[in-house]
Amino acid sequence: MRVFITVDVEEDCPPFAKTCRGINEGMPKLLGLLKEANIPATFFATAEIAGKYPDAIDRLVASGHELGCHGNRHIRLDRADSEAVRHEIAEAAKTLRRFYKVTSFRAPYLQFPRRHLKILADNGFRLDSSEAKHKNPLVRPSLRDGIFCVPASTTSIVLRMPSLIRNSILSCLRDPVVLFVHPWEYVNLQKEHLRFDCKFRTGDIAFDVLRETICFFKDRGAVFLRMEELDCREFGR
Ligand SMILES: [Zn+2]
Repeated sequence: MRVFITVDVEEDCPPFAKTCRGINEGMPKLLGLLKEANIPATFFATAEIAGKYPDAIDRLVASGHELGCHGNRHIRLDRADSEAVRHEIAEAAKTLRRFYKVTSFRAPYLQFPRRHLKILADNGFRLDSSEAKHKNPLVRPSLRDGIFCVPASTTSIVLRMPSLIRNSILSCLRDPVVLFVHPWEYVNLQKEHLRFDCKFRTGDIAFDVLRETICFFKDRGAVFLRMEELDCREFGR
């Protein structure tokens, strides 16, 4: 089984907060855990965050992780017209490629209509992970308009569930397993005025749970990879 840890690098729980405690406090903890576990991950960052926190992006790239694109700003691309989407993606690619040869993409809010896939192909992207099985359980990895579409396997709050619930859900996931988390989950936001799923069991609990999740898959012999390492030929042409 192949497991892909993916991290959406953005401000804290958009659009509810404008703070970036996740970048300052959560990212170092997350990078430390990945180093301790000796596994790579894919970090989908917005260009806006990369511009504000270049040292954080440099550090994740220097640690051997893949840098992917999470848009220019964290806005809904399904509500924008094609020209606006083309501008957002081109700007994001220009900024992020100063750090890394970025070819993987995930849209903010996991909202990316199929009609925009060609814009990714035109801008040198190869893979999109904007779909999610918790929204559409029937979605499968596939090749569309020149882009390999590889859905996220489960929503991030699932990983923060108590172990009995979490492990029963993780046991049902099928290869390729794409997990996604956010740096702000590793900051204690439980007393903040945020939507329930943004603050539920955040902080040390979320951090311990990610460590347990990594162990869960390691115990089952899983291989951890960056998204760019996925051999998409198996999904057909
Ligand atoms: Zn996001």
